[in-house]
Amino acid sequence: MPRASLTLDANDTWTEIAADAIGDLDTEQGALVIAPDQRDVARLSRVLDERGIAHEILAGTEGPEKRYRTFRRILRGATRVVLGNRSAAFAPVQGLALVICWDEADDLLEEPRSPYPHTRTVLQCRSAEERCALLFLSASDSVTLRALGDLGYLARLEPLPGPVTAVRPRIVAMDEYLREREGASGRSRLPQEAMRVIRRGLEKGPVLVQVPRSGYAPAIACTFCRTRAQCPHCSAPLSQSGRNGPLHCRVCGRREDGYRCPECDRTQVRAMVIGSTRTAEELHRAFPGTTLKVAGGAHGAVEDDAVPDQAIIVATPGAEPAPPGRYAACLLLDADALLGRAAFDADIEAVRRWRGAIALVRSADEGGEVLVVGTSTLPAIRDLVAHRSTFFLDRVLEDRRELDLPPFRRVAEIVGDREACRAFLEAVELPDGTDVFGPVDLEGPDAAGRARAVVRIEPARSRELAVALRAGVAARSARKARGSLRVRLDPPDVF
Ligand SMILES: [Zn+2]
Ligand SMILES: [Zn+2]
Repeated sequence: MPRASLTLDANDTWTEIAADAIGDLDTEQGALVIAPDQRDVARLSRVLDERGIAHEILAGTEGPEKRYRTFRRILRGATRVVLGNRSAAFAPVQGLALVICWDEADDLLEEPRSPYPHTRTVLQCRSAEERCALLFLSASDSVTLRALGDLGYLARLEPLPGPVTAVRPRIVAMDEYLREREGASGRSRLPQEAMRVIRRGLEKGPVLVQVPRSGYAPAIACTFCRTRAQCPHCSAPLSQSGRNGPLHCRVCGRREDGYRCPECDRTQVRAMVIGSTRTAEELHRAFPGTTLKVAGGAHGAVEDDAVPDQAIIVATPGAEPAPPGRYAACLLLDADALLGRAAFDADIEAVRRWRGAIALVRSADEGGEVLVVGTSTLPAIRDLVAHRSTFFLDRVLEDRRELDLPPFRRVAEIVGDREACRAFLEAVELPDGTDVFGPVDLEGPDAAGRARAVVRIEPARSRELAVALRAGVAARSARKARGSLRVRLDPPDVF
């Protein structure tokens, strides 16, 4: 069965490619397309409508009754083309010949309920059992798809070759030269160069400003000693929801009116992280006559067709509306902060989010430009500017290989009550060569008495590990063992 992945060029539209592939099927052949977000599904649905291709949307957001009727129509074979989000991966499409998955690396495709199947895994199983073609489309290379390619499981397709300026916008990073040229403002979060890019863009069309965090000031620190302001009650970071607004905790909801720095006892604080709301406020001051919309977080969504011809759209990653005529310019703000997130895959995720925004910008030939405001010498940014994020991914994979991290090791996580965790590890018969780390007590609110262990093995033996863990879980429930315990293969964010 043909199985492939295709990382698109900035100006290739995945919905057109998916619609082309579906249009090539015979009438008795079925197709299933999974996308992480409801809006992605709606975008593809529009393209299929334009082409007169009958299809059904199986959406988790619809009521159970409507969903049930849709499900029955699909089961009867009345509709052979089905689109949907994560849960639609199980849709009983008749005569299934083609499965397409858009943006496989989006964490919305990780099932949060037991047994936690990833949509990718479900689709791989269906491709094997129902003997249908499998195609992964994305705007950015994914570690997992690359590893599946290296194993020979997936063929790697390349976009049709074309002149770079016709398929991608011009991408520039704030490098030392640009910063020095500006003087003091060159070091600021919104340098003059960024304002120039916005101004130039507004002459031609809408401008997108991507900001990693929503809210006003999601992280606060002491002005004097820079100690991070934490909730005295639960230790979560305190944030500020408006100019001169009070500090409050987003975890326990507590409001801190008389905050004093625990280190130096002073009361003055400053924003350590600036969110999309405050960014919009600053841009509104700089461009007073321009329409400005904020997308994502508490502001909700901005629909694709609600983007005016000349407007600034401030959006958090993933919330960017996709106007039909694309953006004339795009700013990627706080690029270093997105790269420096405390997550195992922060750098890859940052590149994925940037490329997602870049894909919405006009080509260089149409005047499209992108400014990355971050440290231009960081490999992820340097390679993004040079349009060669695959080089960056090569290095990430090399590091992971050396450190025995996924995808070069299969990992499972055992988390639960301390005693249950310990007893499980004692009883389970793990295959030889399994590394066991922990159990280690968890930290933070609600973590009291809970522990976590991580086990890992070489990928060729992952079936043995899965069988052993499953036997362990079965034995535990046969014994009616006490305490709560969760066992999860390929856990996200384990390191
Ligand atoms: Zn202080
Ligand atoms: Zn709190």
